[in-house]
Amino acid sequence: MATIGFIGLGIMGRPMLANLLKAGYQAVVFDCNSAAVQTAVAAGAQAASSNAEVASKATIIVTMLPDGPQVEEAVLGPGGVLEGAAPGTLIIDMSSINPLVSQKVAAACAAKGVDFIDAPVSGGEPKAIDATLAIMVGASAELFAKAEPILSKMGSTVTLTGPVGAGNITKLANQIMVAINIAGMAEALTLSSACGLDPEVVFNAVKGGLAGSTVLNAKAPMLFNRNFKAGFKIKLHQKDLRNALLTAEAKQVFLPLTSQVQQMLLSLMGDGKGELDHSAIANFIEEASHVEVKKLG
Ligand code: NAD
Repeated sequence: MATIGFIGLGIMGRPMLANLLKAGYQAVVFDCNSAAVQTAVAAGAQAASSNAEVASKATIIVTMLPDGPQVEEAVLGPGGVLEGAAPGTLIIDMSSINPLVSQKVAAACAAKGVDFIDAPVSGGEPKAIDATLAIMVGASAELFAKAEPILSKMGSTVTLTGPVGAGNITKLANQIMVAINIAGMAEALTLSSACGLDPEVVFNAVKGGLAGSTVLNAKAPMLFNRNFKAGFKIKLHQKDLRNALLTAEAKQVFLPLTSQVQQMLLSLMGDGKGELDHSAIANFIEEASHVEVKKLG
């Protein structure tokens, strides 16, 4: 089987790489954190000393980096993928970034005969470990066909959503819905608690009705159990909503609810809560209302 280059071995990249190795691929890896590279080597990957070296040893490269600036640096920057990549190389960027940056990097790659597609994911670390991520791809049909066998080793749904950039537009749509859902849940449970009700009872009463959702099931128990240990961090969701608002500005689209939740996330980061789970969006509404959403008894 082909050797895959893998760049970005953080919370998500590490288990995604593990699933490619489990599927029988060879891998050559780089991360600017050398401890992350050593962990990958212990799992069976070969270390490279730069992103360019990864590209000199693999013609299909997966990147899983924090945001657009890191993707630009890793692909276009000094010592980056384009310095080592042969024409015909395929870069599959699985990071969640501004779709306009995906399109810009794809154009710079195309000028050197290198293909770049975007394939961000939803599902977080548990689904990265289980290889059940939802993967949203922006690519031509031809490049999708080339990437799909690899992506299907990391996710349970792999959907072609349109040309390059479309994967990240879909991911931004996902992140807008999740953020506003959490804020709506927080307002509802804060009001219930202020009126003296047990938020767990309210949750159990409504979860089977129209207000029920995956977000409600996952996040309401975290709120009334006061557990804000990060699955998905406030600071990452702030990054995603910033990218949504930048895209909206470029397209002259009005996103009033996204803007409000973005302000809440910024305020929480200012309070030192950037590392908490995004269910802590509720803290903003609780503090403004002087109410704690906590189960009774
Ligand atoms: P992370 O910060 O844990 O990992 C990113 C890794 O990239 C780090 O190990 C860092 O050292 C490395 N890196 C940064 N710049 C680099 C460069 N120029 N060259 C090489 N390596 C570099 O982040 P994560 O949680 O794994 O998230 C990665 C992406 O996936 C983000 O865009 C995030 O929004 C998205 N995402 C995360 C989750 C989640 O639950 N954590 C869920 C869905 C999507």
